[in-house]
Amino acid sequence: MLDNVKHVILVLSGKGGVGKSTVSAQLALTLKEKGFKVGLLDIDLCGPSIPYLLNLEKQDVHQAEGGWIPVYADKEQKLSVMSIGFLLNNRNASVVWRGPKKTAMVKQFLTDVCWGDLDYLIIDTPPGTSDEHITIMENLKTVKCDGAVIVTTPQQVAIEDVRKEITFCKKTGIPIIGLIENMSGFVCATCTECTNIFSKGGGESVAKLVAVPFLGTLPIDPRIGKLLGKCCVTELPDSIWAKMFSTIVTEIMAK
Ligand code: ADP
Repeated sequence: MLDNVKHVILVLSGKGGVGKSTVSAQLALTLKEKGFKVGLLDIDLCGPSIPYLLNLEKQDVHQAEGGWIPVYADKEQKLSVMSIGFLLNNRNASVVWRGPKKTAMVKQFLTDVCWGDLDYLIIDTPPGTSDEHITIMENLKTVKCDGAVIVTTPQQVAIEDVRKEITFCKKTGIPIIGLIENMSGFVCATCTECTNIFSKGGGESVAKLVAVPFLGTLPIDPRIGKLLGKCCVTELPDSIWAKMFSTIVTEIMAK
């Protein structure tokens, strides 16, 4: 039930493995740190990674009279999370479903979860533009979707796919909050030199080309994979991630 959800933000990517779920989780954590009540919905049915990234893998969703009670990521219950990962028997179980079953599951996440009063609902989507995206857009018609954050990496092959996400947003009328280029360079800790492992600047140039806001670049940072829900990137000292997430959240709050 989304009746008392004030804002909905989608996180999209053309390809898998570009950091979309990491960005979704960190957006949710940063908004929570700002004092908002936040929900994080993982509709990546075939590759749910939010339970792992937030260290919630052993948690269960409970069924109450009014619907499913989401998993709370914190004691204060300011960050509620829903993912198919909570409904599977084990981490290695695979979801091999055709479109109609996926559609029904996504609908259920929107209608049967007791989200309660939320300032923001962040939706982590699967890569590409598939059944899950179409279902979300059809079912969000009654709720205002504030916009989408699109994540890419600098490689040409990822940039080509990100253009499809932009076309999808334009076709379905989702405002684009902006594009993030993740895994953009790695700064060596010993020599402080930046190596652009996957090249650089592709995200910014495609953003310019299709006239969508460019939110900035996120470097490869080995600390990111180790966070596992323990803290929000805004707490990482000397981190470009911390600055970027403060900027993105300010953009979102201004919507
Ligand atoms: P996606 O949702 O696009 O499939 P994930 O967010 O699951 O991608 O990220 C894939 C992996 O890459 C995760 O292990 C995550 O911790 C790691 N990762 C993402 N971005 C970075 C980064 N900038 N630096 C280091 N590791 C990263």
